[in-house]
Amino acid sequence: MANEVKQKMANNKQEEASSQVGVDLNQKLTEREKMILKNEQELVVKKDEYMSLTDKERISRLDTLSKKESLNHDQKIERDALWLTMEKPVSKEWESMRDKHIDSIVDKSASSLSFWIAEGDWGDMSDIQRENFLQKTSDRNNQAIGNPKKMEVDLYSNPNPKNNGAYNNKTDKISINKNSEEFNSFYSNINTITHEGAGHGYQDYVIEDKSVYLKNKPEMKDQVKKFELSYDDQTWPNKEDQYLSETKTIYLADPSEVDAFYVGDSVQNKMPGKKQVILFEIKDEEIIK
Ligand SMILES: [Zn+2]
Repeated sequence: MANEVKQKMANNKQEEASSQVGVDLNQKLTEREKMILKNEQELVVKKDEYMSLTDKERISRLDTLSKKESLNHDQKIERDALWLTMEKPVSKEWESMRDKHIDSIVDKSASSLSFWIAEGDWGDMSDIQRENFLQKTSDRNNQAIGNPKKMEVDLYSNPNPKNNGAYNNKTDKISINKNSEEFNSFYSNINTITHEGAGHGYQDYVIEDKSVYLKNKPEMKDQVKKFELSYDDQTWPNKEDQYLSETKTIYLADPSEVDAFYVGDSVQNKMPGKKQVILFEIKDEEIIK
């Protein structure tokens, strides 16, 4: 939806430049587009104001907002400006733990025969076979990173072909969109299942098990708080996706997304290299024989 608005505004601009010089762009915008423009201008001003804060101060302001009964317009602008100016959405400590998770997922997947069979057969596999494989992959990922959550993987049809999948933190269910334009790409699905489960599913586990988790890893306290606020109904970045056209910018500044993209993209990028190693080892054996 946000992209549609952006597209429309770009078309208007082009039209104006080519044939209707002198016509005020504002006259051509719908009320909703005008509102979005106004909100985005307010957001820019707020961002400037928040630039000098520390992340601790930003967290403390978000925490205050999360405790309010509901947010008014100005508070929503404040909330999104706080997320957009965050210096470190993901801490060094969290990132280095994630590097270990990524290596562990990659190693476990590489030594799984079913992974490489599916890699070769993906185009010929039925939906049921794909679903079973993605379930197995999700279970193996969880085992690799020590996430005790049991997550059910389901295929579903979302009419938006840009939507690859979703994690539901109420039901712990992972939904993979078989209508996605990337559903026929094996490695894109490896990315999605890892993003949703090892990314968001792990964040969800940490938030739910916070007191036990932080007893073992007290250095993750600020990071866990950021995730909690990013899942909070009130402080979820750009919760109302209709009030800004900048959804993607805020979405990509969300600590939960930064973390999930890091895990999913890294695993997707590292796996094809593992195939080279495996093929090389097989070749080697053949030569010895
Ligand atoms: Zn995500």
